[in-house]
Amino acid sequence: TKREDIRNIAIIAHVDHGKTTLVDELLKQSGVFRSNQTVQERVMDSNDIERERGITILAKNTAVFYNDVKINIIDTPGHADFGGEVERVLKMVNGVVLVVDAYEGAMPQTKFVLKKALELELPVIVCINKIDRPEARPSEVIDEVLDLFIELDASDEQLDCPFVYASAKEGVAILELDHSPENMKPLFETIINYIPAPEGDPDAETQVLISTIDYNEYVGRIGVGKVDNGSLRLNQEVMLLNAHDPEKRKKVKIGKLYEFEGLKKIEVEKADIGAIVAISGIPDIHIGDTLCSLENPVPIPFQKISEPTIAMHFIVNDSPFAGQEGKFVTSRHLRERLFRELNTDVSLRVEETESTESYKVSGRGELHLSVLIENMRREGYEFAVSKAEVLYRTDENGKLLEPMETAIIDVPEEYTGTVIEKLSQRKGELQGMSTANGGYSRLEFSIPARGLIGYRGEFMTDTRGNGIINTVFDCYGPYKGDIQYRKQGSLIAFETGESITYGLFNAQERGTLFIGAGEKVYAGMIIGQNGKAEDIEVNICKRKQLTNTRSSGADDALKLTTPRILSLEQALEFIDTDELLEVTPENLRIRKKILD
Ligand code: GDP
Repeated sequence: TKREDIRNIAIIAHVDHGKTTLVDELLKQSGVFRSNQTVQERVMDSNDIERERGITILAKNTAVFYNDVKINIIDTPGHADFGGEVERVLKMVNGVVLVVDAYEGAMPQTKFVLKKALELELPVIVCINKIDRPEARPSEVIDEVLDLFIELDASDEQLDCPFVYASAKEGVAILELDHSPENMKPLFETIINYIPAPEGDPDAETQVLISTIDYNEYVGRIGVGKVDNGSLRLNQEVMLLNAHDPEKRKKVKIGKLYEFEGLKKIEVEKADIGAIVAISGIPDIHIGDTLCSLENPVPIPFQKISEPTIAMHFIVNDSPFAGQEGKFVTSRHLRERLFRELNTDVSLRVEETESTESYKVSGRGELHLSVLIENMRREGYEFAVSKAEVLYRTDENGKLLEPMETAIIDVPEEYTGTVIEKLSQRKGELQGMSTANGGYSRLEFSIPARGLIGYRGEFMTDTRGNGIINTVFDCYGPYKGDIQYRKQGSLIAFETGESITYGLFNAQERGTLFIGAGEKVYAGMIIGQNGKAEDIEVNICKRKQLTNTRSSGADDALKLTTPRILSLEQALEFIDTDELLEVTPENLRIRKKILD
């Protein structure tokens, strides 16, 4: 049976290309095209609440209506794969919308997810967003996207994909550049017409693969998946098959059953083929488990979860300013929040350490962890982080392996020499170089994850905030040997216009460390030669841009908030200097003293 009343899609977009704005706009306009108006009001309500709380508007799952068709929109991580997550998510959908900034073009992080989508033979709709931008170059971006499709071995059908131009900000979409925009209707229609309805056998035995886990403190773990075959009913008894070992099975009862509407979960009695459902009442439900009938339990195979490659320590911030901006500052807060994250992120590890104030957090690359850090800080958690360390492995012959990343770098031509030199010192190998737009060059490196640690801040300085660096985990490769580079720089403690930030600065790796809380804190980095105060150069970047490891241009990235630069002597007053060269939890014990 085909469910013509459902479309299941995923949106793929690079950070900042407008996914949230787009989905928000689809939500807003959803009711406009629907006969039943009550749902629209509800959606709007929940939307406002989310806005007030200042949390991400785009929930993991959102459903919008166009006429009487329900479009389930599933969020994909916009960055590298965090442990097979991308593939599991894409298995729930019948097509994807690739959102690309009409100026920036396709970015490497989307390349990874796009590749998976193409491999799974999903049809793709390309949505060129931000066409209202004066510098927009939609036709060129289309050519670039098509080149990328070819590079990623897209099929002929996939190459023949529809293009929709949009300005999510203005709430409009058009199919041809010379059309006059009115609303999002062209995008809605393209989705309905181009993405196939989900299919399955309603009379077959029930099969639901749990693709993601949601967590709610009142009902606990909530498994989310698509009904592949059969149906699910409230209170129905089903077999839960363990992802890793299908022999491990258990009879469970469906507690509550939900489908998505707008940003909410709506309780339902029964869910049929093609529905994206959320199931509560099964405490030990895990990603990759299959729910199936008692009589004939057959597991659905799933993508194995990958192991972490990098670790950082998250440390309670005991500075005298703790609590001024953040809401959650104690070790218990930090612990609870980190362990809660494990409910929904399967590729993350959290371990206790000897210190009750420090937790070791491991994930899939620096980016994975920086997304978590960013989210937690937005929520009001105050903590410090140590420098990242990579997790080594050995191959079957005992040879040491280390995680390798691909770095794609866009820089103005005049800086390419510096970047190549710096990355070569860090064992990066230049794989390719091409000319991008507006006097920019694009460099592609294969580099040990180790070599990138602490590099981003330096990169920002070296390129005067005009460079963009994107990195993606590639593979485990043979250990590349010691990395040594010029010893340079010193330490920091400084004040920005909005609040005071300190950090320790590793002289060997010119790095940045963020300490602070709340949206407004700016992170910074000071670079000095020989530790002389007068040589200190300050580079203040908005935290968001740093942790996203990209900047959207000089004016934004180098927003100097006239920091008060302390002399080296003054700065040292606030930091234990004995072990300045190594960033360890111990070094982070900053003396409790107020800067005035
Ligand atoms: P996401 O990271 O992909 O979810 O991106 P957001 O939806 O948060 O958008 C990132 C930024 O781009 C925000 O400042 C938006 O206001 C802006 N933006 C989104 N869509 C458009 C658009 O169509 N035109 C313009 N000019 N800006 C947009």
